[in-house]
Amino acid sequence: MPELPEVETIKSQLSDFLPMKIIKTSFSDKTSRLIRQQDFVIKDGIITSISRKGKFLIFRFENENHFLISHLGMSGTWRISDQKLQGLEAKHAHIIFEGDSKVLSYVDPRRFGLAYFLNKNNYELKCQSFPIDISENAFDANHIFKIFKTYPNKTLKPFLLDQKHFSGVGNYIASEICARARLLPNRQVNTLSKKDCNNIKAAIDLIIYGAIKGSGTTFGGGYRDAFGEKGEGVNHLVVFHQQTCQLCKKTEVIKSNLGGRGTFHCPRCQK
Ligand SMILES: [Zn+2]
Repeated sequence: MPELPEVETIKSQLSDFLPMKIIKTSFSDKTSRLIRQQDFVIKDGIITSISRKGKFLIFRFENENHFLISHLGMSGTWRISDQKLQGLEAKHAHIIFEGDSKVLSYVDPRRFGLAYFLNKNNYELKCQSFPIDISENAFDANHIFKIFKTYPNKTLKPFLLDQKHFSGVGNYIASEICARARLLPNRQVNTLSKKDCNNIKAAIDLIIYGAIKGSGTTFGGGYRDAFGEKGEGVNHLVVFHQQTCQLCKKTEVIKSNLGGRGTFHCPRCQK
């Protein structure tokens, strides 16, 4: 599933091709689940910018009353190519913007993605429903400490997966946050200090921006970036699916099951 670093990668790769003039728009015949709202029917126009809010991509157009909000679901991506996609990729392309030199296609084999074509009023309403996510500046150590104070009996790693409080943290990111912050995944959060929260915040930044440098992370061949390449972010992982801890480089990583999810930690580096 594309997580924050992967969505951020796609955003920054596509941004290099903006503004993009759309000459023709077409849709596959399988968009009934994908397109959740359609305030306007897009034919042509200019995409002026793409930003990210959590795992949502927000496309802005020259027409300031037009917005497209896109969530990649389990297997979605936006592909930029010189020509219309061919073969299997073409089969899974559900929204196709043809420009004068490039083609931008929303490709999603499993079709759990979401797309909202919204006018300005509805866009602003939709934005209000987005929670603050871990990649935002306001999500700082104080904010984390406050959450832990409010829910003192939670266990760290499963709690990090709670999207109500830690929007954008997926399973691999949660293991990596604990490792980089040097905290055991099964710590009860009321035992964590303000300094631990500082370390968690630093870990979040490192993981998101570290993975962006490596174009996101691919497991089991799922994720493709905007150029159809697999991410290389897996090289940055220190415990998740690693044999040896990449922090101390000498201790065997322990795999466990915590709250029903595969969890990885280093018994030497994490306390
Ligand atoms: Zn270690």
